[in-house]
Amino acid sequence: MPASDQAPHTPSPQGRAQHPDSSPSAERPKPLHLALNSVFERVRSLKDGEVASYIPELARENPDQMGIALASVRGTTHEMGDSAAEFTIQSVSKPFVFALALEQLGLAEVTTHVGLEPSGEPFNAISLEEASGRPLNPMINAGAIVTTSLITGDTAADKFEVIRRGLSAFAGRTLTVDEAVFESEVETGDRNRALAYLAKSAGTLASSAEVATRAYFRQCAMGVNARDLAIMAATLAGGGVNPITRERVVSENVARWTMAVMTSCGMYDASGEWLVRVGLPAKSGVGGGIVALQPEQFGIGTFSPRLNDRGNSVRGVAMLEELSQRFGLHMLEHRAEPLSPIGEISRAGDSADDDVSAHLRGDLKFGDAEHVLTELLPELESGGTLTLDFGAVTRVGAPAARLFRWAEAGARPTDAGKRRLVLHDPEHVLGD
Ligand code: GLN
Repeated sequence: MPASDQAPHTPSPQGRAQHPDSSPSAERPKPLHLALNSVFERVRSLKDGEVASYIPELARENPDQMGIALASVRGTTHEMGDSAAEFTIQSVSKPFVFALALEQLGLAEVTTHVGLEPSGEPFNAISLEEASGRPLNPMINAGAIVTTSLITGDTAADKFEVIRRGLSAFAGRTLTVDEAVFESEVETGDRNRALAYLAKSAGTLASSAEVATRAYFRQCAMGVNARDLAIMAATLAGGGVNPITRERVVSENVARWTMAVMTSCGMYDASGEWLVRVGLPAKSGVGGGIVALQPEQFGIGTFSPRLNDRGNSVRGVAMLEELSQRFGLHMLEHRAEPLSPIGEISRAGDSADDDVSAHLRGDLKFGDAEHVLTELLPELESGGTLTLDFGAVTRVGAPAARLFRWAEAGARPTDAGKRRLVLHDPEHVLGD
């Protein structure tokens, strides 16, 4: 996964949309900016919460900063406020490093070391499952340190280099470490060292405690901005492909598993309430950043340093709550009846046994295949040919394709007078 050395296009000025294929257009209010701005202005007045100070260097952040960026899976970005201000990624790194570990080792191997259950406890809890010694999940420190220990490399420097390249590929630009924050974490990270030693004694840490914590501290001290977080999240939302560089960073399965763990565990002991109120897979960090995403649509990055008592950015939470509720972004939002997958049906003549051709359309998932077959297979009861035309279908999920193939195999014209089923697939959307 080579990281590109440069962002593919320059950061946009405040509140301006960018499209990779278009030159900046004339001053015109953009609907998305009006939407972002209305949220931004409401949240700006919030002054509660405290900047994290348990890592002394973090306390130096200007608490009034506030930025938001949104990146679509098609590669458009929208930004507002301090969206280019750098801060340290901290725990927002955890899902991305988890994704890298999954990509290297697979789900079965990774989950022998770290669990997938919400802990309902703070981020720095001493949380190891009794029987297995596994930290409960990779989004709390104990689980994240174990995840980092799984990354390829014998030394902390080797492991960190794999992480730096991987996270840079997610962001689409080369990320670097804030050395002052790193030193500050090393000096004050005894609790994290304790977690690493506990995991080591339980047999779940894959390196020495020193190597794992050093690589983990560097990982947490990587500098990012809200725009980077939006693109990193959009890479997961887009099934593992960076929307700007078009590089595949992780597989679709890995992106899905990662988004699943963000959904159940991303906001620590506030994860359950977050799922109900906001309903977007997310991850927060004590540097003031939050990533959130809507699968298949976009990623969002927010930045504002004051934290609530759970360690989540007060204004970041408020911006995402507002955005989700006002614009219906909850991932379980009920959508209107989708376009029917069955388009035009043509009959060769007026009689019941004439050939019939049904034009299918759209992105066919399992439920669509079920609908098509339930509606149209009764046509097979009389003579002639039933053709399902996939020419206007954009994609068929593997399970849906399997259903169509089974229907085809089961409809061989063995009985005289019955119709034959033909799958006309000029674009090979059904696979082999
Ligand atoms: N580096 C921080 C720590 O380990 C990360 C915690 C966080 O962002 N919640 O304490």
